[in-house]
Amino acid sequence: KELTDINKLISEITQLAYRNHQAKDQSLEVNLNFMLDPGLPQVEVIPSDLGKVILNLVNNALYACGEKATLLQTQGDGGYKPEIIVSTNKTSSGIEISIKDNGIGIPEAIKDKIFQPFFTTKPTGSGTGLGLSLSYDIVKAHGGELGLESKEGEGSIFRVILQG
Ligand code: ADP
Ligand code: MG
Repeated sequence: KELTDINKLISEITQLAYRNHQAKDQSLEVNLNFMLDPGLPQVEVIPSDLGKVILNLVNNALYACGEKATLLQTQGDGGYKPEIIVSTNKTSSGIEISIKDNGIGIPEAIKDKIFQPFFTTKPTGSGTGLGLSLSYDIVKAHGGELGLESKEGEGSIFRVILQG
């Protein structure tokens, strides 16, 4: 573990994932916003591991926006503006990272399954279903929490809570 500037780590990895996604799917323009707490304290993490968590959460958020765009297109609804907000906040005992998307959302019935290894709703061959289970393990190994708030059809917020 090393004392890490989380805002820097997050903006680098998110922009990498975003550029990669935009290069692959030019038809989907996702509005990416950062709300990074300038007073965020540095925390002790394994940067390469926490980086994997962020990468997976951002990739999932981008995918969720794509799914919603496709769904609304088939319904003839053209007013969708995909958006992802990546934020950090200082908490009383550490920090919180949140990745919010206004994508497809997660049905109540699968909320407890998505953290299980190999659970995926992506077509065969396009998702391993390992991203969230790995992310959960990494966050737990850091003594933190991985929280989820989601509404089907409206979007999701994944929160990584770390102690300082
Ligand atoms: P994968 O991305 O390979 O499917 P993950 O473990 O990352 O595996 O995610 C598991 C499942 O959780 C996804 O297939 C999807 O159904 C759901 N999911 C994860 N993140 C989101 C999100 N931001 N919005 C909607 N569904 C999500
Ligand atoms: Mg994933």
